[in-house]
Amino acid sequence: MNIQHSQEAFLRAQELIPGGVNSPVRAFKSVGGIPRFIESGEGGYLIDIDGNRYVDYVQSWGPLIFGHRDESIENAVIEAVKHGLSFGAPTQAESELAALIISIYESIEKVRFVSSGTEAVMSAIRLARGFTGRDDIVKFTGCYHGHSDALLVQAGSGAATFGTPSSPGVPADFTKHTLLAEYNNIDSVRKCFIDSPGIACVIIEPIAGNMGLVPADKDFLAQLRALCDEHGALLIFDEVMSGFRACLHGAESMTGTKSDLVTLGKVIGGGMPVGAFGGRREIMACLSPEGGVYQAGTLSGNPVAMAAGLASIRKLRENARVFGILEARAKRLMQGFGDAAAKYNIPLQTDVRGSMFGFFFCDSTVSNFEDALTSDTQRFAKFHAAMLDAGFYFACSQFETGFISTATTDAMIEETIEAANTIFGAL
Ligand SMILES: *Cc1c(COP(=O)(O)O)cnc(C)c1O
Repeated sequence: MNIQHSQEAFLRAQELIPGGVNSPVRAFKSVGGIPRFIESGEGGYLIDIDGNRYVDYVQSWGPLIFGHRDESIENAVIEAVKHGLSFGAPTQAESELAALIISIYESIEKVRFVSSGTEAVMSAIRLARGFTGRDDIVKFTGCYHGHSDALLVQAGSGAATFGTPSSPGVPADFTKHTLLAEYNNIDSVRKCFIDSPGIACVIIEPIAGNMGLVPADKDFLAQLRALCDEHGALLIFDEVMSGFRACLHGAESMTGTKSDLVTLGKVIGGGMPVGAFGGRREIMACLSPEGGVYQAGTLSGNPVAMAAGLASIRKLRENARVFGILEARAKRLMQGFGDAAAKYNIPLQTDVRGSMFGFFFCDSTVSNFEDALTSDTQRFAKFHAAMLDAGFYFACSQFETGFISTATTDAMIEETIEAANTIFGAL
């Protein structure tokens, strides 16, 4: 595969932009190799600037559930652009998208739009703190909630539940209110509630997608709900990735556990920068200007972004059976990978939730970040490079989730399985 133009573009970008990218994972650091510079997307395919075509299992890291250049989304955006790009004043599209989301998510009674998932989470946490009058928060190791200071934490020393910064530039003072628990381990959450009397909220990806795909157990979520209720803490479901990806009505409909606040992003923007957070009316009433918890944004609820979001979510609601179709394809892909791995004695764990799929090169089931870390990342890197070279674009890290779009056809899935058979044979 000729990637000369991407090579040159990457060298140039590295002179101009730190690492040549505007979000670190795009630089391919954990798998090596040259990130492809993209010319365009077409349905289920990405086309790079050397003219190579790839079956796209990244889909802009989740948003593009209808694939690239979906006609109805594209037209909605073009129509919106003709009315003006931004007004900094309310538009009816915001209420329309809000009404749609409220009608679909049982636990959302009011919603506020922002411009990214990071912003949605950061604001939801501020709101939880404002509502409860408490400072401490609990997050789970391996869950990602955007890049705001208080959430860039790693385990501290020994048995301490309080986290320490995972990035230079984050003062320890800013993370001292963030406690860390282990995913799918309720005792570790109990310990947080023992260590801190003032927990405002527990935030979790109910279907974790940022340590690879690791769904939470139903029982664990139910126990988490009970613990939060017992201690007067709010439960936040971060569904920036899983929202409208795993199913239509959110993790609450799949797991039976309801949250107090939900954060959304990715799919609700249909490829445009949109985030949102919503929940019970009494909690949302604390938000400025109704209440005192400040939150704002020049481009929040941007009309072009709302148009893309509306077109996507409307289309999903009208075609709710699409999730079953996507799930069947994702399962077929993972089954194909599993069979190929078994044939060559390669340990592989796979899982699927709706249009989300994940696979780990390790021996036993993955239920938390520690388990995920047992996977063979060198083997993954080889797999990634070989698949890319064969025209299949997978996320460039073992700890990411893959996505099926409605434009990912059965034929593409079969081609991918065929390629994986050859490549697993050579691993
Ligand atoms: C992507 C993601 C975020 C951050 O969203 P951005 O739009 O990248 O800021 C937050 N939480 C989860 C679960 C995500 O997957």
